[in-house]
Amino acid sequence: MTTSCKALAGALILSIVLAPPLALAKTPVATGTGGAVATISEKASESALAILNKGGNAIDAAVAAAATLGVTDPFSCGIGGGGFMVIYLAKDKRVITIDHRETAPSSFSPAVFQENGKAIDFDTAVASGAAVGVPGTVRGWHEALQRYGTMSFKQVLAPAIDVATRGFPVSETFHKLTAENERKFQLFTSTSQLYLRNGKAVPTGTVLKNPDMAKAYREIAARGYKAFYEGPMAQAMVDAVNRPPLAKGAQVRPGTMSLADLANYEARIRQPIRSTYRGYDVYGMPLPSSGGIAVAEALNILEGYDLKNLPRPNVEHLYLEASRLAFADRNAYLADPEYVDAPVDGILSKQFAAQRRSLIRPDKAAGVVPAGDAFLYENDQSFPLRPQQKLIQEGTHTTHLTVSDKEGNVVSYTFTIESWGGSGIVVPGYGFLLNNEMTDFDFTGPAPNIPEAGKRPRSSMAPTIVMKDGKPAFSIGSPGGATIITTVLQTIVNHIDLGMSMDKAIDAPRLSQRNARETSVEPGFIGTQQAKGLENFGHKWETSPAPEEIGAANAIVFNPDGTVTAVSEGHRHGIGTALVQKRGH
Ligand code: GLU
Repeated sequence: MTTSCKALAGALILSIVLAPPLALAKTPVATGTGGAVATISEKASESALAILNKGGNAIDAAVAAAATLGVTDPFSCGIGGGGFMVIYLAKDKRVITIDHRETAPSSFSPAVFQENGKAIDFDTAVASGAAVGVPGTVRGWHEALQRYGTMSFKQVLAPAIDVATRGFPVSETFHKLTAENERKFQLFTSTSQLYLRNGKAVPTGTVLKNPDMAKAYREIAARGYKAFYEGPMAQAMVDAVNRPPLAKGAQVRPGTMSLADLANYEARIRQPIRSTYRGYDVYGMPLPSSGGIAVAEALNILEGYDLKNLPRPNVEHLYLEASRLAFADRNAYLADPEYVDAPVDGILSKQFAAQRRSLIRPDKAAGVVPAGDAFLYENDQSFPLRPQQKLIQEGTHTTHLTVSDKEGNVVSYTFTIESWGGSGIVVPGYGFLLNNEMTDFDFTGPAPNIPEAGKRPRSSMAPTIVMKDGKPAFSIGSPGGATIITTVLQTIVNHIDLGMSMDKAIDAPRLSQRNARETSVEPGFIGTQQAKGLENFGHKWETSPAPEEIGAANAIVFNPDGTVTAVSEGHRHGIGTALVQKRGH
């Protein structure tokens, strides 16, 4: 059977029936005594809890939740993309990270997104084979399970296979995202067959099944990660990238991915970024994500202020200015560390933070600021960023989830296919969308984050685990492109400095300053007392294009009395689901 015939056959099996309206209320906050999980998807949180209840650990449960999110939230994540996982291993008392970011195919060059030396239009780049990086998710899950898990692919993929086979009710958010991406999805036959009906988004309440994705998961369950990176599934991906399954008359830029690109993909075990903030140890994701470094630099800057004793507008002004400075440095220096010598120790040094802090005016917002000279601080020994023990090994797209178990292991995991719906290309016969992660590169240089063969584009994902006195205090992370950094930073400041409980810290209006003249805010913010308080400092708000919401955070708080509280969004992104184990497990 040819690839397109397979696609057609897959689409014909796809069945749709109308489900009764959702009856159960979601639970964005839950406190218990064993393991805990918070994700944006009810089914994904249920999958994680089922694995914890079967005796799996947090790593097993995180992969189970992620695989289910790939079914229920396929426009933000899945096996066609990549991600970053931060894991606290309770027995070893150490934090490790797994970088399974997508890589540029070996044919890539700085000119991929240029025409006549000029950057091509962003949307044209997104919906293309050229935007697709070699997916890292399956290899990342393999490393996580093999090194730190207790269960097999077969066990942890079972709940997701069940959801893909039986189907799940299309939520309002799912419907809205499909509708917003109709034009992109219409370009590709495999995608419109799966997610559109007569070219339109399937209505809310429809039960959507994805037997092709169930098949892809079953093959991985049977043969491990090689089922994805070699053989028929790898060939189907290469075909979809190099000769996208185009609708009649549609045109997109093809890619040039090879079977060798897939077979050679590796996840990297990397040491976390560790920084300190007011007695807490903050562990975050290192390069190629800029998330951990930017959050740490901004916290270092903020640590020089007595935020607890300042009025809230002053605290928020300083938060915005610290974020502005951290973004200037992020943009100037950070990229894949295997290609670029970024001055990471300099950026993370407390002395550099003091120098950057001295530029902040307590009464006035700055405009766009230049980067500091972080190379000058490379030898700063005031805070050598070395782990205490030697490690054994080293828009609001995207999704973040977090899981803990009764042994005290914690996973903070952000993964993505980049834009909503990624490149828009569903792999024929396998039911998953391919990423457009290569558009995270800068399209023109000179810049450290320029496209190169085999390189990983700079990310903003910031899965974070915060420790106090050697024990987990809380985990936090969010989707949202570059606003991930500000959401994580603001939630930490809300929780630690403004003393908000985690649900309030997550619920609070989000403000995102990324070294621009204007700060991004959510609808309804402009005109509030909070906004006016900040306007007195000269802060201006981004009005076009204004984001509908910023981020969709998930957190777990480890309470001093030994209980654990999982916290998801109480109003954003259709409300998330927090679940916990109770005594007895
Ligand atoms: N591709 C983005 C990153 O790696 C995440 C996508 C998003 O959240 O919008 O930072």
